Amino acid sequence: MNILLTGGLGFIGSHTAVVLAEQGYQVVLVDNLCNSEIETHANLELITGKEMPFHELDIRHTTALVRILKEYQVDAVIHFAGLKSVAESSTEPLKYYDNNVGGTISLLEAMKACDIYHFIFSSSATVYGVPQYLPYDEDHPLVPMNTYGKTKLQAEEILQDVARSDSRWSIAALRYFNPAGAHESGLIGELPKGVPNNLMPYVCQVASGKLPYLNIFGDDYDTKDGTGERDYIHVMDLAEGHVAALRFIEKNIGFYPINLGTGISCSVYELINAFEKSANCTIVKKVQSRRSGDLPIYFACADKAKDLLAWHAKRDLQSMCDSSWKFQANLAKNL
Ligand code: NAD
Ligand code: UDP
Repeated sequence: MNILLTGGLGFIGSHTAVVLAEQGYQVVLVDNLCNSEIETHANLELITGKEMPFHELDIRHTTALVRILKEYQVDAVIHFAGLKSVAESSTEPLKYYDNNVGGTISLLEAMKACDIYHFIFSSSATVYGVPQYLPYDEDHPLVPMNTYGKTKLQAEEILQDVARSDSRWSIAALRYFNPAGAHESGLIGELPKGVPNNLMPYVCQVASGKLPYLNIFGDDYDTKDGTGERDYIHVMDLAEGHVAALRFIEKNIGFYPINLGTGISCSVYELINAFEKSANCTIVKKVQSRRSGDLPIYFACADKAKDLLAWHAKRDLQSMCDSSWKFQANLAKNL
């Protein structure tokens, strides 16, 4: 099968490309490089030993997408391309709606023009908003608290309508929890441009000396140790979840929102402790006030993924920290 990955040079797309290629799928990548580096392409071919055609392209360019879908006789699309900064989405809402919602519409138009109806969408746990109960299951109300989350929810609503309109569509919207970690080779990983917003890449940069200390955004939450708790999931587990979802949509029509998480919640301090073991270092930290818009705690109910996809996360927090640190240390060596 031939699979097109939009945003294929990004963090989650690149890891999924490796797992797909290893499982015998033909992978084609498109990316406009707005948040990734071209070197990742060579590293993907190095890891897999396979050729992986890459096109530098913005997914809002529908006619160019149609050409690529036809050229490679694509059977299914996994749509990672998107902007993901919660903070930037509140200052640049039009950029986010245009890219995340407009980009998705452009891609669906191109697929329809080529009679391709198998689609996997990168959604997010941010679609749920303030927890009315935990763990979040897929029936939890969808009330996102920020513009980024609203773009993901709007895209999901479009996908649901599209699936209702024509029974040939088979669509999974995978709601990721907190991806972390890297491929075991240390050749690909998370490459944030500028100062990272997320915890794991920030900790990596403190450990490597690029940043002086870690801000702890609040230690007075009603959580196990006062810091925020999240459901961190290894990016390789997430990548394998996409392959499982691909197998599922090959056989099932309709629209399926599915959580990809571990069901385990981990505090900021727990993550730092595990990371310090991996990197054999001490992370300098400063407790600050809470970050605006942060939730104290959330984590996934992972039952639906287990039932429908026969998938569950296998790797633990230590493995996320080990591989993140290996990637960060490699980056520092190559500078
Ligand atoms: P990423 O930024 O590393 O990867 C996204 C890729 O898409 C980048 O390589 C970027 O250059 C590309 N891109 C963006 N807009 C594009 C466009 N218009 N045309 C072509 N390429 C474009 O992010 P990621 O962490 O790999 O996330 C992948 C997807 O998963 C995103 O849609 C994101 O919103 C979603 N997601 C991520 C997380 C997370 O914490 N990483 C959590 C939930 C959901
Ligand atoms: N966090 C922190 N310092 C940082 C980045 C994050 O203390 O520099 C905390 C944040 O408050 C939250 C957790 O780490 O409790 C995960 O934050 P991240 O931004 O990685 O994920 P999200 O909040 O989007 O789920």
